[in-house]
Amino acid sequence: MTDAHVPPTTTDAGIPIESDEHSLTVGPGGPLLLQDSYLIEQMAQFNRERIPERQPHAKGSGAFGRFEVTGDVSGYTKAALFQPGATTELAVRFSTVAGERGSPDTWRDPRGFAVKFYTAEGNYDMVGNNTPVFFVKDPMKFQHFIRSQKRRADNNLRDHDMQWDFWTLSPESAHQVTWLMGDRGIPRTWRHMNGYTSHTYSWINAAGEQFWVKYHVKTDQGVETFTQDEADQMAAIDTDYHTRDLFEHIRDGEHPSWTLYVQVMPYADAPGYRFNPFDLTKVWPHGDYPLVEVGRMTLDRNPTDNHTEIEQLAFQPNNLVPGIGPSPDRMLLARLFSYADAHRYRLGANYQQIPVNAPTCPVHSYSKDGAMRVQKVADPVYAPNSYGGPVADASRYGQVPSWQADGTIMRSAYVDHPEDDDWGQAGTLVREVLDEGARGRLVDNVVGHLLNGVSEPILARAFQYWRNVDKDLGDRIEAGVREKAAETDPKAPDQANPARDAAQAKA
Ligand code: NDP
Repeated sequence: MTDAHVPPTTTDAGIPIESDEHSLTVGPGGPLLLQDSYLIEQMAQFNRERIPERQPHAKGSGAFGRFEVTGDVSGYTKAALFQPGATTELAVRFSTVAGERGSPDTWRDPRGFAVKFYTAEGNYDMVGNNTPVFFVKDPMKFQHFIRSQKRRADNNLRDHDMQWDFWTLSPESAHQVTWLMGDRGIPRTWRHMNGYTSHTYSWINAAGEQFWVKYHVKTDQGVETFTQDEADQMAAIDTDYHTRDLFEHIRDGEHPSWTLYVQVMPYADAPGYRFNPFDLTKVWPHGDYPLVEVGRMTLDRNPTDNHTEIEQLAFQPNNLVPGIGPSPDRMLLARLFSYADAHRYRLGANYQQIPVNAPTCPVHSYSKDGAMRVQKVADPVYAPNSYGGPVADASRYGQVPSWQADGTIMRSAYVDHPEDDDWGQAGTLVREVLDEGARGRLVDNVVGHLLNGVSEPILARAFQYWRNVDKDLGDRIEAGVREKAAETDPKAPDQANPARDAAQAKA
């Protein structure tokens, strides 16, 4: 007898089954039967439950809510979602970067901060981090960077030696590494961190005037962080602390919110600006381009099925709606391709038909077929056609943001602007933003990181790297490493990692 309020179990085809507990056998002690298609469906489906995890940003959690415009940026963009009075539904996913799907939320790592706006003019995806800069500025180095932060080939372990090898050979990383090793390198929760698109985007207004913009999504909960000790303890107690915190606060009606601001640079300022405004390792100082308020994002709804709503939630920075465009930032231009490509691999060619990814506005594309397509296609399936198929709106020509490009095809670094270098903005952060307490914690964090498996000559390079950021900071870091190494092995005061160095000398 089944309870009248509980539905009977069925197969995936909706056919009622007789038992949730017993396989079909020949007598109680006999063999299983191939005709037990319910058992086979259970086993086969189970084997296929995991899909490839994201590479990177595998561990994360998300929620739903809305964006309400509170400012007036209509003079800078015609994007419908940013016009005064507009409200737009959205989905958000926060994540760590380097760890796998089960890794601790409180590891020191940048955090992903991705927002999908379901606008009346198509989906707009803002794919940012909790830091305003990044480790590299050319996509050629991105894959190498991520591999250096993940696992070794031989023992499958993460390796600080590998991380610092890459960083010290890539001095453009200094600004982001300084950020990461400081207090903000471990947010207390997803709710207590800011988001930044980091990239520069273009905006175009109704009159066709173009601007360069950077987005800042500031937490209304206030920025709060964990010290390394607090984070280590939390990783031991609750690997899913950030996931739990977000879910429980939304469940309990404590809806977190963030205020979106933009920095706006007139189009013509870019060539003469003191920093290359498209270099992802640099910020635009607030003094040069102050923040302009746009609106507020509130999260008020949890997923009910994490897999379909968050694990399959697919962001792609090439989802740019009318009024918003890309910029010459090379990292952004590469991401315009790589994100959608990752989704085609992870989720299949028709991933945009998964409900959480599907636009809420009508779609009239000519895409058809492919695995797992669920939206029906109607003839005609080609353009141009004589049968009433969709026709592209040619009046939009000249209304999409663009920029002039001319030159010989080459492989070359960006051309530096007068104040561009690898160390300056990192040094400003250390000297002008951090107070002495924060500088002390930065030193301790770097010392602890370097003592955990970094060998010569990388260690010497790391000391110089930090001296280039700030001479005093570098001196303190070297002194801290030498002192701690001597405490661990008094016979080897000059070596931070004697066991490893000895092994290397032997080899
Ligand atoms: P400001 O003094 O105007 O801004 C400094 C900003 O630093 C703050 O607004 C805050 O960003 C951020 N900040 C505060 N504490 C920390 C911390 N522990 N770790 C990282 N960031 C922190 O100076 P400028 O705009 O002239 O920039 C100076 C330096 O500040 C930059 O070189 C950069 O390293 C850093 N910074 C600058 C940002 C920018 O877009 N201009 C953004 C973030 C950092 P917020 O207000 O976003 O919380």
